[in-house]
Amino acid sequence: MIPYGRQCIDDDDIQAVTQVLRSPWLTQGPVVQDFEKALAAKVGAQYAVALSNGTAALHLTCLALGLGKGDYLWTTPLSFVASANCGLYCQAQVEFVDIDPASRNICPVKLADQLAQAKTANILPKVLVVVHFAGLPCDLKPIRELTDHYGICLIEDAAHAIGSLYEGSAIGSGAYSDATIFSFHPVKTLAAGEGGAVLTNDVQLAAKVRKLASHGVERDSEHWQSPPAAPCYYEQQALGFNYRLSDIHAALALSQLNKLDVFVEARREKAAAYLKGLLDTPLQLPVEPSNCYSAWHIYVVTFESSEVRDRCYETLREHDIFTNVHYIPIHKQPLYRPLARYFGSHFPNAEQHYARSLTLPLFVTLTEQEQAHVITCLKESL
Ligand SMILES: *Cc1c(COP(=O)(O)O)cnc(C)c1O
Repeated sequence: MIPYGRQCIDDDDIQAVTQVLRSPWLTQGPVVQDFEKALAAKVGAQYAVALSNGTAALHLTCLALGLGKGDYLWTTPLSFVASANCGLYCQAQVEFVDIDPASRNICPVKLADQLAQAKTANILPKVLVVVHFAGLPCDLKPIRELTDHYGICLIEDAAHAIGSLYEGSAIGSGAYSDATIFSFHPVKTLAAGEGGAVLTNDVQLAAKVRKLASHGVERDSEHWQSPPAAPCYYEQQALGFNYRLSDIHAALALSQLNKLDVFVEARREKAAAYLKGLLDTPLQLPVEPSNCYSAWHIYVVTFESSEVRDRCYETLREHDIFTNVHYIPIHKQPLYRPLARYFGSHFPNAEQHYARSLTLPLFVTLTEQEQAHVITCLKESL
């Protein structure tokens, strides 16, 4: 059986986790801080806050940016539901901007057009969440120019893109955004079991996220609002959550982070092998513009019709090759369908992508023989 994705765990990872299990700290210990420091250094951001998952990272970033009732959050319809749900968690309204069919990322031209309309209607978003689909960075320069022009906060949902570069800077460095979130779910490039992080260069944003991740409780006496009434005093200053990452998870995440470059290199080799093997087919293959370096979280090909796609999916399954579909456009979900949106419910590029695409197996331990088998079976079923 060949799945579409699979984590890569070695003896170092296992040892890192068992070390924590033998230590006094299973959570709120030193490994979380070690991981945060290493992650911030790796991507070139000033602050990293480790959290229980990527969804929590999106939620808290939105809250810390002040997103609330009466506000709008915009995102791409071609993502996992979490990219939009963070808006609903904050009681904001969610609007979508269609993708560019070549990059599969939010389309900067459509974004510019929609923002101009929103300005006239006085419904500009407070927050824009962009997604680096499949690991390919969005065109951040023109997007940042737009968000700066209109005074919008920009969050990079980089669940797919740890290890990717845009214009030579690492995704997560915050060169073009207010904050970046990562996920360490096992289907992503780094696996912590569950895990996530917020990366930012804004000291106050980092502090807000950190506090909200631990119930909204402030333990630092410098930031208390009243003098301590008793020993072991702490203050709850906001309604926060328990979104902390445990040291057990952090140990795995840190051990995996040490291998990020190796993982990305392996993924890039396999992406190149797909490109070579599938170039002479009618498939639309993913692109990598020269100013981008993709970590290739997934390899998504587009067929000429949904009939061919469905047939290939079935044929590959008969060969024990399991592909996937990324994603059902969020606006098509039963939760989102009835929600009123100024910009409507039709995003043809995302819908076309959904109808005609498949995600092929791509993971670090996929062997050359397995990949050759996938390519052969796919070609035969076209
Ligand atoms: C996986 C994913 C998330 C959510 O991350 P979790 O760690 O599973 O909560 C958010 N956005 C995108 C684009 C994702 O792929």
